[in-house]
Amino acid sequence: MTALLGILGGGQLGRMMALSAAKLGVSCSIFAPEDAPCAAQIAPHVQASYEDEKALAQWANKCQVITFEFENIATNCLSVCADKLFPSANSLTYAQHRGLEKEFLSSCNVPLARWMTISKMDDLREAGNKLGFPFVTKTCRFGYDGKGQYVVHGPEDFDAAFSVVGADAVAEEFVSFEREISVVAVFDRQGHIKTYDACENIHRDQMLAQTILPARIAGATEELAKKHAATIGRALGHVGVLTTEFFVLSDGSLAVNEIAPRVHNSGHWTIEGAATSQFENHVRAVMGWPLGEVTRLGEIDMRNIIGPDMDHLRQTPPTQWSFHDYGKSPSLPGRKMGHLTKVSVGQPSS
Ligand code: AMP
Repeated sequence: MTALLGILGGGQLGRMMALSAAKLGVSCSIFAPEDAPCAAQIAPHVQASYEDEKALAQWANKCQVITFEFENIATNCLSVCADKLFPSANSLTYAQHRGLEKEFLSSCNVPLARWMTISKMDDLREAGNKLGFPFVTKTCRFGYDGKGQYVVHGPEDFDAAFSVVGADAVAEEFVSFEREISVVAVFDRQGHIKTYDACENIHRDQMLAQTILPARIAGATEELAKKHAATIGRALGHVGVLTTEFFVLSDGSLAVNEIAPRVHNSGHWTIEGAATSQFENHVRAVMGWPLGEVTRLGEIDMRNIIGPDMDHLRQTPPTQWSFHDYGKSPSLPGRKMGHLTKVSVGQPSS
């Protein structure tokens, strides 16, 4: 009998995880409230609310191991799956709340932009004094891709900023970074770690548009970023993929922006561009198996396909790039519909 891996969430990350699991002979079951999530095109789907503890318990009972593909699952629901859940709810607690995440990261002694908690309008005034203008204020829960954020340029922005982020928020200094990178690392159940090469991430409208490797940073900066990512994962007791996003400043120093306790958009290149993909390694880790090699196979260019750009590509699928269509519709503006990857391994010999 093949093992059954339960995946909480039915988006493209779950879809690509299920594709990798199938390659390893692991069947998946998707638990998600949506009608027809894109992961359900790959694996059977149980449709129920994450708050439906009875449905969750019945489903969990059938799975050998459970993992998740997004972080905003209520931790009380996760307690239903607790003994089978990898990564554990501990990794999620911090990723679900920016304030707790920053406190945790500070306790790991990794570099962070200066920050403070915002719980009332007056705190924004204090943030202006402490952090200087401009500063960035971010809601603690449910923010992603720059949503729930406001750049405060002066006191005239306080009202608008507070109405966006509310009373459970943080303020952080505005970082004049040179570039943004991420480190995708995977932790097995025995305490081994493998770290992919650092990804350089280029954003458009605060959403990831392109990932290139090698990142245009010094070797020492890359090694330091990998070291910080390992420190964070170890402190969490993390199992599976953990992604750490960094700002790189012009002097080569780093500041951790945020962590994602899961496979990540900036790691999609690993499907064609690494010896073992982030999805396969995540499945290996949560199943309790040894990890695959993470060697990079060439120079990487990964582009997200956002919204209606997919319509044209579906008519004429590209031939020079590996084309990934997540099978979603409609192709609404701002919706992640797929991605393209090119791996350049040097000039072919004539
Ligand atoms: P986040 O959702 O925190 O990853 O933020 C989305 C994007 O906003 C980041 O990838 C950065 O491009 C930008 N950003 C976030 N925080 C800051 C900051 N403190 N200073 C400057 N830019 C930021």
